[in-house]
Order: sequence, then C-alpha cells, then structure tokens
Amino acid sequence: MKIKYILSACVLYTATAMINLNAKTLFDAADLHSDVLLNILEDPGYLDKDKPGQHTSFRTIKQGNYRLIVVIVSGDFFFDRNMEKPGWISRRLWKELGKYRLKKREFAGHCIDLVKKTFKDKKDFVLVTGRKDLDTVEKEKKTGILLGVEGMRVAENPGDVEWLYENGVRVFGLVWNSDNKFAHSHKSKSGLTEEGKELVRAIAKAGGIIDLSHASERTVLDAIETAGRDCPFMASHSGVRQISDVSRNPSDEAIKAIAGTGGIIGATFYRTLIKNRNNKSPVYATTDDVLDTIDCMAKMIPISNVAIGTDYGSIIPPKGLENAGCIQKIGAGMLKRGYTQEEANKVMGANALKFLRKALK
Ligand SMILES: [Zn+2]
Repeated sequence: MKIKYILSACVLYTATAMINLNAKTLFDAADLHSDVLLNILEDPGYLDKDKPGQHTSFRTIKQGNYRLIVVIVSGDFFFDRNMEKPGWISRRLWKELGKYRLKKREFAGHCIDLVKKTFKDKKDFVLVTGRKDLDTVEKEKKTGILLGVEGMRVAENPGDVEWLYENGVRVFGLVWNSDNKFAHSHKSKSGLTEEGKELVRAIAKAGGIIDLSHASERTVLDAIETAGRDCPFMASHSGVRQISDVSRNPSDEAIKAIAGTGGIIGATFYRTLIKNRNNKSPVYATTDDVLDTIDCMAKMIPISNVAIGTDYGSIIPPKGLENAGCIQKIGAGMLKRGYTQEEANKVMGANALKFLRKALK
C-alpha cells in the first residue's frame, strides 16, 4: 500500500511539474492588427518609453514573445474629410493630419518610412515582405513587422496598389467605418463597386492579402468571388455577432466564407465587439471576453482559422490585457478552458504564421 501511495504521489508530482512547465513556456504570439502607428505619429520615441497605460513598447513586445505584428501604416480615417476627430487621436495630430488630406501618397509614404525607421537597426525585429523573412523570424526568434493599410482611401485608383506593394505593404484592408469609392463598409448592404472589383484584382495580382474587417457582408462575398478563393483573405480584428450583435462584427456567413478560403479571423480586444451589449453594466471587457470570442469562433470554424488581432493603439484594452506584454494570458486562458497546448499555440500565432507563409511570395 505504502509503495503504491509513493508511486501515485510521484506521478501526481510529475504531472503537476509538467503543467507548471507548460504554463511557463511562452507561446509564439502574432497580432494581426496594431494601431501603434498612431502612437508613433504622436511621439517618434514612443516605443522606447514604457509609461503606465501605454499599450505597446519595445519591452512589452519582448515580454509578449511576438513573432509577428501587423502594423497599420495608413487608415481611411486619415483621409475622410467628413469625419470628426476620433477620441483616440490628439487635437495636435488631428490638425497635422488635416494638412495631408489631399496629399495621400505623401502622407502614406511618410507613415511607411516612420514605421520602417522605428524598427530598423533593432536587432530583434525584421520587416516582413516575403517568405524568406518569415524564415528569419522563426529561426532566430525575432519579431516580424508586416505593413498593412486599413481602408483603401489612400489609393486614387487601383494602380496605386502596385506603389503600396513596392513600398512594403502586404495587408490591404478594403474599407473602414465609412464607404469609400471601392467598397462598402459594415454599415451598408452593398458590396464592391466596379472600381473596387478592379482594385481587388490588382491586390490579388500583386500578391497582397485582403483584409475584410470593417467590410459589409456583401463586400466580403464580392471580394472572394472577384479575387478568387486562392487569394489570401482575413478579417484581422473582429468579434462575433453571437456575442456582440453589431454590424462591425462580421456575420457568421462572412466568417465562414473567409475561413472557407483558408483565411483567418483575428479575435479583437476592442471591448464593444467582444462584450455582450445586452448587459447593462459598464462595457469593460476582460480577458474572459476575448476567450469567449475565441470559443465562439472555434465552434463556428476550424480552430486552424482562428487568430488574434488586438487593435492596440486605438482601444480601451480589456482588464488583464492592458498592454502587449499581456498577450500570453490568452494562451494560458485557453489551456485553463481545456484547449490542448497545440490548439492554444495555433490561435496564439501558429495559424497566422502558417497563413502568411502560404500568402507571401
Ligand atoms: Zn479597425
């Protein structure tokens, strides 16, 4: 009896030690959508600092063990002349942006250079423009920076896709919260315009990734039909309507259509998209709300199509996920909810890296 007791105690001890070891192993993380450009525009030295309340810094990126961050270098909100100043932009920056509204290429070029300059000569970072850069990222455990645009207002015509691609942009979000001349936003029932179809073909031809977050369901379906199922699609930062029934979240049909092409959906940290709005309590999201969104996505589509897109830089982050260094809590939370290490690993970053390996040249 005594030997039996000692043996089972040993087994229990080993199992507990393994769980602890797993808990300490860092996941390779990927963030499909970061608005850190807005912070860098306000202060070019932003990432060197690490102030309370700061979403992203060089220190928290390291702590989060990121293999990839998609950094947005142009947004439709920069160029929408009817738009009122959003809360997440300072008055000073909003005024500065005003000067650039008619000089789109100049401003986008300035933002692209600023982001490149921020990460250049930093030994832990690599600008990712092709598959070979992903090799460096994975072999040398660096953080890949992939450039994206959020809305195509930056382009005068479909021909501008080539210019953006040549300058390193690989993720092309078609539209933001208001319709542009190429695509209709989530608030609309319409889809791509004729020029939008041309634009989507140009993105597919160049080898870009089409981001369908913020798009209407019709835009999602039109884009897939126009570019073809071989084109890489994602919804980089989204929630699900089963939890938050707002138009900004893609419909179940849109999520399934994107996943059906092999595309990925990034669960966002943006509180109104992941918190049930029927709940009248203050809309503060928590880590559990992000996990609920991941649970819901994983029931709707294969877990190999689920990823993370935080939206750090322009959100009020969920409690527990205050900065980029906290992202490991998502993987740990998934393990606690009964997901396997492999499943947590996939959502944390492996799915995004696999998708990019296939999408990039
Ligand atoms: Zn967005």
